[in-house]
Amino acid sequence: MTITYVCDTSLYINTTNECTNSCDFCVRDHGDELYGNLWLEREPTVDEIIKDVDRALSERDYTEIVFCGYGEPTVRLYDIFSVCRHIREVSDLPIRMNTNGQANLIWKKDVTPDFEGLFDTVSVSLNSPHASEYQSVCHSVYGEEAHASLLDFASKLKKYVPNVVFSVVRDSIPDEDIELSAELAKKLGVKLRVREML
Ligand code: SF4
Repeated sequence: MTITYVCDTSLYINTTNECTNSCDFCVRDHGDELYGNLWLEREPTVDEIIKDVDRALSERDYTEIVFCGYGEPTVRLYDIFSVCRHIREVSDLPIRMNTNGQANLIWKKDVTPDFEGLFDTVSVSLNSPHASEYQSVCHSVYGEEAHASLLDFASKLKKYVPNVVFSVVRDSIPDEDIELSAELAKKLGVKLRVREML
């Protein structure tokens, strides 16, 4: 079971296969060429995650720790917070989460205050500035409401996390939608990262 893995100089943590989206481009069901198949036969416990993180930290240096995996990390948000508290005790490394931004829908409350002090960066996959287009590609279980919720999540989160970033993938959306995404990010007071397709 692969709980942690290395990408460039970052230590990635894989905690769940579950996700509230079913994106057309998702590789979690079949793995990819870079990392093989990270599908977990079961979800690791908090103790198992901490043990694996400690092992990985003892083996080499990193520049960042990232909660990502192939599922949606916020499905296990409060377990992840427990792991973050441990990391803060044993390491000075910055901590990032890559998320679909639907945590407030998943937990049926505003979870953003609970991020305070635990994350340095949260990257929210915007994918599209349009709710209908987002839903047509990401197929959230929450329908088009997911898009409005991720915007609200990012906007609220910036009060508790120093660096909140929207991400879109170049070539997967039209140039005018990248411009609209930049305007949206500016309006909400977060950054926009236009990343290349892996
Ligand atoms: S949000 Fe991420 S994990 Fe979830 S289906 Fe989309 S690409 Fe896969």
